[in-house]
Amino acid sequence: MNAPFAGRFAAVRQRMAEAGVEALCLSVGPDLPWLCGYEAMPLERLTMLVLPADAAATLVVPRLEAPRVTERPALFAVLPWEETDDPVATVTGLLGRRLRVAVGDTTWARFVVELLQRQPALQLRRATDVTGPLRAVKDPHELAMLHRAGSAADEVAFALQHGEIPLVGRTEAQVSAELSQRLVAAGHHHTNFAIVAAGPDAASPHHEPGERVIRSGEGVLCDFGGTMHDPYGVGYCSDITRCVWTGDVPGRASEVYAAVAAGHAAAMAGVAAGVPAEAIDALARDVIAAAGYGEWFVHRTGHGIGVEAHEDPYIVAGNTDPVAIGHAFSIEPGIYLPGDLGFRLEDCVAVGPDGADSFTRSDRALVAVDA
Ligand code: ZN
Ligand code: ZN
Ligand code: ZN
Repeated sequence: MNAPFAGRFAAVRQRMAEAGVEALCLSVGPDLPWLCGYEAMPLERLTMLVLPADAAATLVVPRLEAPRVTERPALFAVLPWEETDDPVATVTGLLGRRLRVAVGDTTWARFVVELLQRQPALQLRRATDVTGPLRAVKDPHELAMLHRAGSAADEVAFALQHGEIPLVGRTEAQVSAELSQRLVAAGHHHTNFAIVAAGPDAASPHHEPGERVIRSGEGVLCDFGGTMHDPYGVGYCSDITRCVWTGDVPGRASEVYAAVAAGHAAAMAGVAAGVPAEAIDALARDVIAAAGYGEWFVHRTGHGIGVEAHEDPYIVAGNTDPVAIGHAFSIEPGIYLPGDLGFRLEDCVAVGPDGADSFTRSDRALVAVDA
């Protein structure tokens, strides 16, 4: 298939016109590779694509990075700058009299501050106003990539659930390192995170895996994901959470986990085009509250996923925007009992014509592994 970038440029230009944005400036972060296949190095040297609504785009790039720009032809000019040049002046020159500018959300503050010092009349807004709604709707190629990344994460979850990854007697950090290695071995370009939280550590949703040794007779929450590159150099993320129990699952753990799983199932069943994001959140939350654990479900039900591990749309109370065909996001309710235990169950799904199309399919039960 043809590279998707020409279509994305066209869509971005249309959205800029609708939003009254005169120029889009993209630097470090996911918008730039999504738009043109080139990822800016997070350097002190400025890389910035300047895309005026009414003129051709230019990539201002340090001379030493310019050889990495391969996707150049018709979409943008490449303007390398030398070590003695002033790249911020180059950008303000390209902007000219255009003042309504959208700048990439993760552009270094130093460059945004310098731009404003050179041109105090700039009316800046976030590039997400332009790119967010476009990136949220995945095309068939992107959906295929998210399925591939999900399948790779599923392989690691399968190994975890089938006792192929030793747990008891190892530290959380050791298991986290093995999950990371396996994510890469399964086809990811790199790992983004591998949370391993055992016993009461799992009551902290974003626990940092540490030196705690995993024992028999406790829960182990594993939340991991990586980035898989497509043939054009654009990376797509996976994200999955599975919990296992070292030994036979006691009744109380089963009861708490059942509430998480029921909340997850309710939200999954409620995914459909046109449903407000907050209604999907409420489906999971109501089930967990009815089971008596509402106050311990301490985070939103999900986040969008794509070239970023967390992006639009967010499945959270207050987000009344309806989800649409092609949106991709996580469903990940959890219950966290401080000092005791924690469970989360997470799959990422696309909104398809028949509802939720899950990227991961490994067993959603609390699997008992050998102690
Ligand atoms: Zn998270
Ligand atoms: Zn996760
Ligand atoms: Zn997640």
